[in-house]
Amino acid sequence: MAAKTDGDSSFVDKVIERIQGSKVTDPNKSDPSKQKVRFSVWYFVIAMLVFAWFQSYTGGQQRETVSYSDFKQWVRDGKLENLVVAPEQITGNVQEEGKQARPFVAVRVEDPELVGQLEQKGIKFSGYVENKWLGAMVSWLLPLVFFIFIWFFLMKRMSGGAQGVLSLGKARVKIYGEKDVKVTFNDVAGIDEAKGELEEVVQFLKDPEKSQRLGGRIPRGVLLVGAPGTGKTLLAKAVAGEAGVMFFSMSGSEFVEMIVGVGAARIRDLFRQAKEHAPCIIFLDEMDALGKARGLNPMGGHDEREQTLNQLLVEMDGFDPRAGVIILAATNRPDILDPALLRPGRFDRHVAIDKPDIRGREAILKVHAKNVELGQDVDLKKIAAMTTGFVGADLANLINEAALIAARGAADEVTMANFKEAADRIIGGLEKKNRVMSLKEKRIVAYHESGHALVAMLLPGTDPVSKVSIVPRGIAALGYTQQLPTEDRYLMTRDELLDRLQVLLGGRVAEEVIFGDVSTGAQNDLQRASDIARSMVMEYGMSESLGLLTYTHSPQSRYLDLGLGSNEREYSERTAQQIDEEKNRIINEAHQKVLLKLNKYRDSLEKLAETLLEKESIEGEDVNKFAEEIRIQASSDAPL
Ligand code: ADP
Ligand code: ZN
Repeated sequence: MAAKTDGDSSFVDKVIERIQGSKVTDPNKSDPSKQKVRFSVWYFVIAMLVFAWFQSYTGGQQRETVSYSDFKQWVRDGKLENLVVAPEQITGNVQEEGKQARPFVAVRVEDPELVGQLEQKGIKFSGYVENKWLGAMVSWLLPLVFFIFIWFFLMKRMSGGAQGVLSLGKARVKIYGEKDVKVTFNDVAGIDEAKGELEEVVQFLKDPEKSQRLGGRIPRGVLLVGAPGTGKTLLAKAVAGEAGVMFFSMSGSEFVEMIVGVGAARIRDLFRQAKEHAPCIIFLDEMDALGKARGLNPMGGHDEREQTLNQLLVEMDGFDPRAGVIILAATNRPDILDPALLRPGRFDRHVAIDKPDIRGREAILKVHAKNVELGQDVDLKKIAAMTTGFVGADLANLINEAALIAARGAADEVTMANFKEAADRIIGGLEKKNRVMSLKEKRIVAYHESGHALVAMLLPGTDPVSKVSIVPRGIAALGYTQQLPTEDRYLMTRDELLDRLQVLLGGRVAEEVIFGDVSTGAQNDLQRASDIARSMVMEYGMSESLGLLTYTHSPQSRYLDLGLGSNEREYSERTAQQIDEEKNRIINEAHQKVLLKLNKYRDSLEKLAETLLEKESIEGEDVNKFAEEIRIQASSDAPL
């Protein structure tokens, strides 16, 4: 598949290379494409000069044009030498007494006696056939060369953003290489976790050999996952800046409208250039546009994106990780990426970039506020508090807007009022895009997540809670509770599964307990809870009434059977009913237990939720302290 792609596009590739020459925009050199144009102009001029000179050399000695009668007179006088008789004209030298021989040319006239006379006078002469071939060459080839030259020249001119068929050769994507990237980790705020994870990449790029000697695993592709504007590009640049390496960037969306073959050629080119400049970073923005799972294309068949994607996979597999080229890619939809991209050796490392919480927002505001004159009354903490849901780009925008508003009022510093006005304006825009949660929704999410967290804290057998957040993450989740396992797990016991079930139900039950009403936010939790209950009954033999039987096809047998009756149930209607009853029983029992817990520890639930509403996310020490309090309280109570 890959080799085929290669062959298909090699011609296009060559053409593009011819047209473009070197494409790295290196700020330290003058623009190479301009150089190239100048070169071709010079070649052309030189060719013309040579041609003109050649012309004058062969045909060009100044010949005197004489009349035919003069010529005939010279024939009679026998004064001629080097005579050449061509169909159209007669050339030769005339030797007059006491003078130097003069070249002449005379137009030929119908004269049958000429040959006889020449022979009679003993004048040597030769015939001459005009070189038709050369004439044809000149009359055809020259305009052709001229037009090709014009065409190439136009392509050059048009490539600067023009669209349409003419710009086909030079597709619109610029491989943009940046040296001396000025962005550093100091310019990136509020996403310390992601920064920490990329620190290793920086170390590797700084000294690839040393990292290998120390036996570090060499990263190859890192996928930055996060909503638009959370600073993925900024972070990738900062990695290049910190390591002092070149930064190549390309955006996946730019490949979408391209002619078949061009995208693949671009990828090849990108990697070739990156290898030349190693160590360096390749940044692929909007990876989802390029890396959508193959087969999702409704038109089917090989489309451009697929070829480009294949080429990317080939390149990623093909290069030596020790070469010091690291590929960072950004996406906000990792779920739709082609699974091939996520395999080991490709983008096997994911770095999540969450929307910043209140402290993160304050840190980002601080970074961007450096460039403006802040008034005395400006409190960045307060601004952070009123900008829930803002990502880094929104905050940078906010500071800009506020500064503009201040400037319009001819003030020389930006006041709190300016910030409020700017925030209102931006929130208005975000609300239209449905990106701002109402206070009521925020409360629901806070209690929901606190419910999960509290149940987890009350169950000693579950993984410790590491983070609770109501900052929306990804497309679906409005908040999340993170539990980090303390050890690798290969098996889970029945009790552990039941505990997990309770944690999953915690969110929904918290809504019940506090608001007496439930929201749609628990859909994913309930689905996962049902899956656990179903597996317990049908796969793991964990239901007493159904016994040690499995009621599903094992994955292996699914491949062995030939598609005949693979969906056929191997149990009776009565058993099916029993399975449903068992699943319900498991879920209902868990539900009752959670209800008891949350009612009993309602105070803790409220305390956790209110803290969450204020801080938006709780992690590390704060979470541990909270969990400790709960545990102490619970151990003195009678067990539930
Ligand atoms: P993404 O690539 O995730 O869409 P960008 O990196 O392009 O987002 O962010 C756009 C701009 O927003 C950046 O140039 C920067 O000014 C600002 N920004 C975003 N995130 C941060 C952050 N964490 N710290 C500081 N500035 C940020
Ligand atoms: Zn939930």
